This record gives sequence, structure tokens and C-alpha cells, in this order.
Amino acid sequence: MTTPQRLESGIPAQVSRTAAERFGIIERPDLTFTPAIARETEHLYERVKQFIPAFEWPVYAPYVHAINRIKKERGAVILAHNYQTPDIFHCVADIVGDSLQLARDATKVDSEIIIQCGVHFMAETSKLLNPDKTVLIPDGKAGCSLSESITGADVRLLKERYPGVPVVTYVNTSADVKAETDICCTSSNVLAVVESLESDTVLCIPDEYLAMNVAKQTKKKILTWKGHCEVHERFTAAELLAYKEADPSIEIIGHPECHPDVIAVCDFAGSTSGMINYVKDKRPARVLLVTECSMASNIQAEVTGVDFIKPCNLCPHMKRITLPKILDSLLFMTEEVLVDPAIAGRARLAVERMVNLKQ
Ligand code: SF4
Repeated sequence: MTTPQRLESGIPAQVSRTAAERFGIIERPDLTFTPAIARETEHLYERVKQFIPAFEWPVYAPYVHAINRIKKERGAVILAHNYQTPDIFHCVADIVGDSLQLARDATKVDSEIIIQCGVHFMAETSKLLNPDKTVLIPDGKAGCSLSESITGADVRLLKERYPGVPVVTYVNTSADVKAETDICCTSSNVLAVVESLESDTVLCIPDEYLAMNVAKQTKKKILTWKGHCEVHERFTAAELLAYKEADPSIEIIGHPECHPDVIAVCDFAGSTSGMINYVKDKRPARVLLVTECSMASNIQAEVTGVDFIKPCNLCPHMKRITLPKILDSLLFMTEEVLVDPAIAGRARLAVERMVNLKQ
């Protein structure tokens, strides 16, 4: 891999030209379903046949085939979040996982181009941890209700109102917000991050429910913000109890972005990775995943002997990413994600403090 030259400002010289100018564009391939494409994608269809009927595969297969071929030509790596649809997650992704895992794993691969299949703050985090790589998102409008609930200016006002109180920010935020933060956290390490701080009071933002859930586990006073994940806030304790009443053998596992009343009726609560590990290790006979429903499908494709109950809440932002848009990203090198150098250093520091925290 070539070492990028830098301008005096510290900005890699390469970003002064668009990604299309730096890497060139590729002509759109023929997307006809041929016997050769059927043969070459047969092993991939095996992975997703529970979710894609055979008569629909001829629509998917030419995209899957073209994406995998052009990805190799470009030397690109595709990162896919656990909430991406099974066709993306199982057929074209190179690295899968939660947002932080994806950004960290991307630092270990020798690819100059990262295609981020997820939402915008995830692509920004990948850019922060991989500043010399070209990060593309197939749809720049893929946002997030939680990330958009707060801005850097809001955090500056909070710091004025609570001087000296350390700010812990969930990774589901923009780089602008991370730059105003002392340390980031994920849903799996939020308690360890809060406990690592000396102060008796901590600002834990922007997810109100994540903060309320951690407040139940610490003696520190937790101040928060009214941000919510529009997928996880829709679940209610009453609907989960109704499932349990119908079949008491069902194990309910939930994400800490849910309201504390929901977490109270779960048998286990954990981050997306924690939930996946729980299902893979414990193999419950029947499990209800209280989270985004593509994630349940993605685990279901890998785990046998587990009956998945899926109260289906889809994230509309995650679903903006599709195979045709991924192909366009690879062909036309769109849409490039850049982080303002004035905030990138401080935002990276907040993420790195969390990554380097001894737990
Ligand atoms: S699932 Fe929730 S937190 Fe994740 S991207 Fe969608 S809205 Fe944001």
C-alpha cells in the first residue's frame, strides 16, 4: 500500500481530488442472470436461502457477483453492520460486526478503500480510525435518530451548565459530538467507562435509556440527554410479557438501548455482539431478540437448532443500504466520507481513550 503524502495542514494530499478522480470510475457491468453467474453464486445462495426465495435470487445474484468481482479489482474491503440485510451481510461483506468492531478491524486490513454498509456515524468512526484510507458510504443519507438527537454545540452547552463533569459519549454519535467528549463508550463497555472516571457525577449522552440502564448498576450520579434509538424505543415490556405468557420457555434477550422497563423483563441484556455470543454459546431452544430484526436473521443463518421469535422492528436508515447502491459506490467511488481536520483529532482521541481503557 502506498503511503499518502500530506499537505501542510495535515490533510492527506489525496483528498484534494475526489475519490473518483483519484481511483477512476468503472463502467457499469451487464447485470443479466446467466448460467455462469448462477453457478458462481450457488454457494452464497446456500447461506441466505431461508430469507430469499429461489425465484428472487436471479435479481440478487448479478449484483452479488459484480460487487465481489469489482471489490477485488479495486482492492476494497466491505464492512457490514449486524443490522444489514442477509444478502449484504452473508454474500458481499468481508468484515461484519458492531460499529466499533468494524472500524477497528478495518485498521488491520491492507485495503485503501473501505465501503461502509451501515449508517453515517459508523462511516465517520471508520474514517477517524483509518484517516489515510478512502471511506465510502453507499447512501450518505443513512442517518440515525440517536446520532441526530445531539450536536457538538449542545454538548458545549451541557459542559457550560455542568462544569468539570466528565462527558461520556456513546459511539452512536457524529464526529462533531465525539470531539467535545472526554471518552466514548459502547453498549458493552459503558459501565466500565463510567466506573473508570474519578468524578462522582458523569454526563452519559445522548441515549437516555442506555444511561438509565447504567445508572442502575453504578453508585455514580448519571446525567443524560433525551436521545433515543427509534428502533429500540418501540419495544414495550407488556408485549414481551405477552410472548412469555404464551410460552414461558422463550428466552428474551434485549439491547440496552431499550427502556429499563423492557430490560427488566429480559433474561439477558447486552450489546449486539453480546447478544450474538449469548445465542451461539447457550443455544436456547426458543429465543426472542429485542433488537433490529435483520440481526436476528443474520444469526439465524449461522445457528441451527434455535427457534427465533422476531418481533420485527427494522431500522429505516440501515435499510437505505442496498446491493445496487453498493455496486454504484464501487463503480463511481461515491459517497466519500470526510471528517473536518479541525475536529478529527479530538474525536479520535475520545474513541482511542475508550479503546485503550483496561477492563
Ligand atoms: S438501529 Fe437505532 S441506533 Fe442503530 S442506526 Fe438505527 S436508529 Fe440509529
